[in-house]
Amino acid sequence: MLHSRDVALLRPDVAANCRVWLDRCREAGLNVLVTSTVRDQAYQEYLYQQGRTRPGPIITNGRVPTFHSDKAGLAWDFCKNVKGQEYSDPDFFRRAAAIAKGMGFSWGGDWHSFPDQPHIQWDLQGKWTNAMIRAGELPPSMPPAQPDQSEEEEPMDIHQFEALWQQMRQELQDNDSSPYSEEARKWAVEKGLITGGGQVDGSVANSVLFNSVTVEQGADIQYSILMPGATVKEGAKVYYSIVAENATVE
Ligand SMILES: [Zn+2]
Repeated sequence: MLHSRDVALLRPDVAANCRVWLDRCREAGLNVLVTSTVRDQAYQEYLYQQGRTRPGPIITNGRVPTFHSDKAGLAWDFCKNVKGQEYSDPDFFRRAAAIAKGMGFSWGGDWHSFPDQPHIQWDLQGKWTNAMIRAGELPPSMPPAQPDQSEEEEPMDIHQFEALWQQMRQELQDNDSSPYSEEARKWAVEKGLITGGGQVDGSVANSVLFNSVTVEQGADIQYSILMPGATVKEGAKVYYSIVAENATVE
């Protein structure tokens, strides 16, 4: 007997939307648990016998699996993931079903002849019937769920990223240097390691580190410090931002 609760065994288009439904339910505070996805003929027969040859209430009138069939993979069942309250809260099922219906699924709770609150299926708004599924006629692929308008975020392109990056650099550049670095900055300017540190209109020197230092530039800086007789090259000079003409670099 095959009886699985694995979402991955649903048809891929249904599985993808089932996962979106799970996310949306959790975002809505609904603690859903998938209890059943696909089953084979033997398991459906086992379910059919409940309330007939086995004890318990009758839960199905079908002896052949349809939307749950492992050949279809178009349905799943769920419950509230709270011990002892799995099926006791009709509002929970209505809310979880509303999310699924908003995505294009059909809900077993809407059926008049045999309401099935834990059941969600893809039948193209009821156009596909159990008989069609039994005959091997399966509905077309389900369109992927569209992002919610409320949570839709435009992906950032490289130009927007660069603009924000430049804005961040500008904000750093506009800061004043911190007192703790004063001695080090003075030394670095005297050594020609940096070119900034001038004054703008008589204000406090702006020699804040405003740029990222690349590995290439870092190597140049270390080389200029550590190698006897080495001269400072462009890599080291990028450290500071402005008023390069105020510093002398050899
Ligand atoms: Zn079901």
